[in-house]
Amino acid sequence: PDVSLYYFLEQAAAKYPTNQAIIFMEREISYGSLKEQVDRLTRALDSLGVKKGDRVAVMLPNCPQTVITYYALIRLGAVGVMTNPVYVERELSHQLMDSGAETIIFLDQLRPKVENAIPGSAVKRLISTSIQAYLGLPVNLPDAAEKAQPQQIGNDPGAPVSFSFEELLLNNPPAPPPVELDLDEDLALLQYTGGTTGQAKGAMLTHRNLVANVTQVRSWLAHCREGQETVMCVLPFYHVYAMTTCMNLAVILSSAMIVEPRLEIDGLLKDIEKYRPTLFQGAPALFNAVTASARGKKYDISSIVACVSGSAPLPVEVQQQFEAMTGGKLVEGYGLTEASPVTHCNPIYGVRVNGSIGLPLPNTLVKIVDLEDGTRELPVGEIGELCVKGPQVMKGYWNLPLETAAVLRDGWLYTGDIARMDENGFTYIVDRKKDMVITCGFNVYPREVEEVLYMHPKVKEAAVIGVPDHNRGEILKAFIVLKEGQEATKEEIIKFCRRQLAKYKVPKKVEFRADLPKSMVGKILRRVLAEEEKAKSA
Ligand code: ATP
Repeated sequence: PDVSLYYFLEQAAAKYPTNQAIIFMEREISYGSLKEQVDRLTRALDSLGVKKGDRVAVMLPNCPQTVITYYALIRLGAVGVMTNPVYVERELSHQLMDSGAETIIFLDQLRPKVENAIPGSAVKRLISTSIQAYLGLPVNLPDAAEKAQPQQIGNDPGAPVSFSFEELLLNNPPAPPPVELDLDEDLALLQYTGGTTGQAKGAMLTHRNLVANVTQVRSWLAHCREGQETVMCVLPFYHVYAMTTCMNLAVILSSAMIVEPRLEIDGLLKDIEKYRPTLFQGAPALFNAVTASARGKKYDISSIVACVSGSAPLPVEVQQQFEAMTGGKLVEGYGLTEASPVTHCNPIYGVRVNGSIGLPLPNTLVKIVDLEDGTRELPVGEIGELCVKGPQVMKGYWNLPLETAAVLRDGWLYTGDIARMDENGFTYIVDRKKDMVITCGFNVYPREVEEVLYMHPKVKEAAVIGVPDHNRGEILKAFIVLKEGQEATKEEIIKFCRRQLAKYKVPKKVEFRADLPKSMVGKILRRVLAEEEKAKSA
C-alpha cells in the first residue's frame, strides 16, 4: 500500500479506539490514547525544529515511550537511529557521529553515558524520559497549548538543550504538522547492523521498506484476526527484528503488545500466563529458556498460537519441546537488517522443513550465486551466496558507497550468507561468508563443525573459528562450554570429531570456557573470539 506505518496506527485508533495497544507494567494504553500521544510528540518535535530527514537517535529499552517515539518520527518524516541501551559511550558515539543526529531521546538513567558520548557530535537537543515519570502521567492527558520548556545545560550558549519527554507530551496539542513523504526515497530509519561481523553500518530503510516487510509478515500469519491478537514483545525494539515482527505487526493487526522492559524469564512467563499472548516472536535461545523454565515451574503458556524464530538456527529439539508445551506452532525464519529484516520463513501451517529457513515471503525473489564473484547463478542444490530482491531491501548503507555497491547489485541484496536451495525452493543456511575458514586450501564452514560438537553429550555450547597458521593458512579452533558438572579433555573432543568429520574439518585446538560471548539476541559472537585470539598472538 502507498502509505507509511503511521496510517496503520491511524486505522487502529479509528476502528478500535478503546482496544489495548500497549500493556506495560500493569498500565494499559488504548489505541486512541497511543495515537494521541504520538501526535503530541510529533507536534512537540516539530516545534523544537526537528524536520523531515533529520536524524533522531533513540536510546530506550522496551517501554511505551519507544513506541510513541518511533511512530512520531515516522509521522514527522524524521529518521530514527535506534541505539542499544547497553552500548558503551564509544559505540553510542560512533552512531551519533556517523548518523549526524541532532536530537537524542533517551532513558534518564542513561544520561551520564549520553552526555559523555555527545562531545564532537552534532547533538543539540536531549530529550529524556523516565519510566516513573511516564507512568505518573494522567491516563487522559489534559488539553494543551504549545509550550516547550527547555533547560540549558551549563552556561555555554552552544551547549545542548534538555527537554523532558513527559512535559513535551503534556504541553503540546495532538496536532501534527502536514508532511509530504516520498515513500520510496525518504528514509524512515538509519538502522545499524548487528555488528556480529564487524563495525556497525547504517542501513538506510525507507518508509516503503518498513511497510512492505510488516505486510509480508502479516500475510504469512494469515490466521491472525484484526483487533484480536496479543503480541509478546520481549526482544528489543531497537533491533529491526522485534520492531517489524512485534511492534509493527501488532499495530497492523490493531492488536495489543505486551511490552517487556527486560529479558527476565520468570517475569516473562508470569506475563504470558496473565495476558495470554497469541503471537511470540523470538530467537532460539529465548524459546529454549522459556520451555525449560515453564516446565520446571508449571506456568501455563498454552495461549501461544504462532511464533517465528529468527536470528540464528533453530535446533529441532527446541522447536519440538516448545510446540509440545504450548500447543502452538514455532517455525524458523530468516532475515537481516538490510532487508527490514524478514525475507524467508517456514510455513506456519503447511509443510515445513527442519533445518531450513523456509520459503521466500511474498514479492521476494531469491537466487544462489557463486562464491567467487557472484555473477553466476547456481543450480538447485549447489552451495553459494544467498541473494534476495524485494520491496523490503534497503536503499544502501549510509555514507558508504563502496560497501553499498558490494552488497547491492541490480537490486539484488548479497546477504553474505552461504546457502543452498532445494528443488522445492526451501533454503538452508550453511554459514556466513565472512566466517568461512580456508585450511590447507579446503573450505570449512564452522557451523558444520559446531553441529558435530553439539552432538557430544557433554557439550552445552560450541563455537568454531579459524586462527592463522604458518603452514596451513588457517586452522580450526573450537571453544566449548560443558554442561554443568561435566568434565572432558581436549583429546576426547578431537577424537569425537574425527569420527564424524573429514580430517581437515577436525579442530586442531580446543579451549574450554565457562561461557561464550553473545549478542543481545543470544547469537554467539565468533568475531569476539577471533579478536581475542588475535590479541593473544600479537
Ligand atoms: P553484522 O551484519 O553487522 O555483522 P548481524 O549479521 O548480526 O551483524 P543482523 O542483521 O542482526 O546483523 O543479522 C542478520 C544475520 O543473522 C544474517 O545475515 C544471518 O547470518 C543470521 N541469521 C538470521 N536468521 C538466521 C537463521 N534462521 N539461521 C541462521 N542464521 C540466521
